[in-house]
Amino acid sequence: MNWSKHNIISRIKDSQNYILVNSLHGQADILTPENADCVLKNESPKDSSFEEKGYWIDEKREESIYREKYLKFAEARDKEEIQIFFVPWYSCNFACSYCFQDEYAPVNADLSDEMMDAFLNYVKKTFAGRRKYITIFGGEPLLPGKEKMEYISRFLERASEEKLTVAIVSNGYHLKSYREILKKGLIREIQLTLDGTEEIHNSRRPLKGGKTTFDEVVEGIDMALADGYTVNLRAVVDKKNIDNLVTLAEFADKKGWASNPNFKTQIGRNYELHHCQSKPADLFERAELHEKLYELAVKHPVLLKFHKPAYSLTKFLFQNGTLPDPLFDSCPGTKSEWAFDSTGRIFSCTATVGKSEEQLGTFYPEVYLDSDKVSTWENRDIMTIEKCGTCNMRLACGGGCASIAKNRLGTLHSPDCRPISELISLGTGLYFKEESINV
Ligand code: SF4
Ligand code: SF4
Repeated sequence: MNWSKHNIISRIKDSQNYILVNSLHGQADILTPENADCVLKNESPKDSSFEEKGYWIDEKREESIYREKYLKFAEARDKEEIQIFFVPWYSCNFACSYCFQDEYAPVNADLSDEMMDAFLNYVKKTFAGRRKYITIFGGEPLLPGKEKMEYISRFLERASEEKLTVAIVSNGYHLKSYREILKKGLIREIQLTLDGTEEIHNSRRPLKGGKTTFDEVVEGIDMALADGYTVNLRAVVDKKNIDNLVTLAEFADKKGWASNPNFKTQIGRNYELHHCQSKPADLFERAELHEKLYELAVKHPVLLKFHKPAYSLTKFLFQNGTLPDPLFDSCPGTKSEWAFDSTGRIFSCTATVGKSEEQLGTFYPEVYLDSDKVSTWENRDIMTIEKCGTCNMRLACGGGCASIAKNRLGTLHSPDCRPISELISLGTGLYFKEESINV
């Protein structure tokens, strides 16, 4: 018998206690320092509950459970809903201070019906029998002008005919002008971005030419919620705007957004995915950002009303009372995510779309997929990344983002490590405060 290879033990933030988590066996326990001692020192447990819960286990037995759960994961993944990104054009009317797409060479979008039909036919044939939805993405998909507005209108109509729901990722500036057009689609969600309250947002996300955008985005959010759409508000943060997040949370609260069941949020970390205009000193490392969010949330509980960070397994555990299933792969690219653009090209996901060297094939004028490239993507999981094979956090981490891993280490089958232990410590401190004090 040994300690499980999947035990993660972390000292709970702002507590003397520890949290012990094991994703393979679906267990999580808060331990006093005395109870945690044997785990920390790698000594045999004095208490039989460690064995009952799988924290202390026979190695062979654990391997067989691991294999069994891996097969279940692969089976479930084959049934997952597929998110299909479609980029009608890469152009954008904003000049965000940190935009990474500014380096993309302009490509000529083909806005013909033929191209649109080719895309929808490809989706219909290739993903037949799978649950799926489309996300329109850019650049900025909701641009002004007759040609662009008519295109989006036709696209939504055609997607509705195919019974496909559509999510839209927009900067929100022209959302109001698209109000009637949106009614043609089966709109699943509208993702908009506010990087803070008025002054901060306007300094980071002006129109090209410098005009402010805050009021228009706010009106767009009000309109979308009034029309019953789900709004997913994203704030892209770095060290320059993080403190303003509390003021944004108060603003969202006053507007009644935070208590609207159709309103959700995500915090995006401004980081160097491919290229980024921000100064590296202004960017957060992952753990650093989460530490800062923790500090802000403890001081200003309104922040949690606006956004509850996932903090690895802990938000899920707090909300559901159980751990999520073991995560053998956290990168959906080419498995349950694909990206297409209106030049007829196929990519793995939003991180690679538009990068010619990452192209996996075409759906127009001819259908072609580079099967070697696709299988390199498809095969990536924690079993194919050497470092993950011996990592105790692998079933909570899943190997991270393939694109980030490739940018950093040159190959898809390399790790993009997540600070799992730190996140669990912060999340337990935040969501299980009382329990951590009372144990
Ligand atoms: S490569 Fe990164 S961005 Fe692309 S699907 Fe995987 S995790 Fe997501
Ligand atoms: S990516 Fe890093 S942290 Fe994640 S499982 Fe692999 S080795 Fe562990």
